Amino acid sequence: MKVTLPKELELKHRAEVIVLGGGPGGIGAAVAAAREGKDVLLVEHYGYLGGMASMGEVNPFMPNHLDGESLDKGIYTEWTDGISYYSGVTGNKRVIDPPSASLAAEDICLEAGVKLLFHHRLVSVETEGGKITGLVLHSKDGLSVVQADIYIDSTGDGDLAAMAGCPFEMGGESSDAVQPMTMCFKLRVDAEDLAYIAELCPENPAIRFAKTAEIFEQIQNAYLVAKADGRIECPRQNILMFPGTDYKTIHFNSSRVISKSAIDGDELSEAEIEGRRQVRQIFECLRRDVPIFKHSRIHSIATQIGVRESRRISGHNYMVRQDFIDAAKYDDGIIRVNYPIDIHSPTGGGTEITELPDGEWYEVPYGCLVPKGIDNLLIGCRAISVDHAVHSSMRVMPPVVSVGQAAGVAAAVALDKNITPAEVDGIELKKLLIKRGRNLV
Ligand SMILES: Cc1cc2nc3c(=O)[nH]c(=O)nc-3n(C[C@H](O)[C@H](O)[C@H](O)COP(=O)(O)OP(=O)(O)OC[C@H]3O[C@@H](n4cnc5c(N)ncnc54)[C@H](O)[C@@H]3O)c2cc1C
Repeated sequence: MKVTLPKELELKHRAEVIVLGGGPGGIGAAVAAAREGKDVLLVEHYGYLGGMASMGEVNPFMPNHLDGESLDKGIYTEWTDGISYYSGVTGNKRVIDPPSASLAAEDICLEAGVKLLFHHRLVSVETEGGKITGLVLHSKDGLSVVQADIYIDSTGDGDLAAMAGCPFEMGGESSDAVQPMTMCFKLRVDAEDLAYIAELCPENPAIRFAKTAEIFEQIQNAYLVAKADGRIECPRQNILMFPGTDYKTIHFNSSRVISKSAIDGDELSEAEIEGRRQVRQIFECLRRDVPIFKHSRIHSIATQIGVRESRRISGHNYMVRQDFIDAAKYDDGIIRVNYPIDIHSPTGGGTEITELPDGEWYEVPYGCLVPKGIDNLLIGCRAISVDHAVHSSMRVMPPVVSVGQAAGVAAAVALDKNITPAEVDGIELKKLLIKRGRNLV
């Protein structure tokens, strides 16, 4: 079939920096570049910000802490302060409430002067002489073009870099299989059933059920029996759950969709259906077999299936598992991570967790954010130049916000000095990030 697309498209917006994608990385990148005085346009496919923290219903922010202090002091901690203001959760600021996450992200972007363009999705990338010259977007009014001096890919999947022709990797140490996708959801427990918790824990009726060993065991047993009976078809080995914003809301990170590619439109669509099929099965099982869930109901479900891993864009530096094990440090280390290697099996049950020794962390050098092949592009999301194992550690949201923050400041430096991102001195960049409040000393 032959299709004729318009040859001339309207130039809709021009900015100094365009950030594509408004998830944790995009928020960090856009706010950081705008605070450096740059004219920034943030383009997002959905109608709100937050990425996986809002549309993916992911919860909580995983700990990336040393001695009780976040290693991501900066835009990440400003964001969690804002989330806590809206959600009312003051004790543990790592608990995420999706609407609060998107409101708080929009606040800090607007305060920084970022121009937001929602409901626009990348269709193709125009390049010339190793530079991006424009992005073709699609929205309700059809196709249009946006242009900038520097572009930051914060799509999580590296869509922009891949469409611009940058080389990338996908998959693990021995195959091209990536981590599974998961449809996150929350259940709301009925007050009547909470009386049951009160009976089990008379000293604290409001105790979070997940900490109650007996109920925890009931949940895991019910799941395994349902799997053995064929009532649940899910490769995950157990039920993974976390407290929600209040003691009646329980978050489930439990479905597991394997052997589907998040960068293939048909397979991504199939993954949505498979993820929700597993959600129904888990819900049915819990309601039937675990007393606390007898009158529970679906509280919320992700707008989009959660994608843990897809493309990793090849850059000027590259980190591998051994660098994690060695707790590698670099003069131009622009983020610090001590979250473990956390690989949900790409092919079935099981999860690898490999921790760093207590008190240790590794750093990611600036060159991992600078892609090969295109001169005016930076990666400000999980799709940086690291292997499958390092990706499984740095991909959690707190360090991804810090990756974005580093990309945003680097874009501003490149513009001020009229140089390419590859020419930005990573050691000077680190010093500037410290001046801007990042705890990298
Ligand atoms: C199921 C699951 C559970 C997880 N659990 C945790 C957890 O408990 N704690 C934790 O800290 N981390 C967790 N993570 C990891 C974390 O959520 C992600 O790695 C992180 O959100 C990545 O941030 P990002 O900005 O790179 O991408 P994303 O959060 O995916 O954001 C990308 C944004 O770009 C937009 N976008 C994408 N493509 C386009 C396009 N072509 N055009 C326009 N816009 C586009 C998207 O709509 C989205 O808003 C989990 C991830 C998954 C999938």
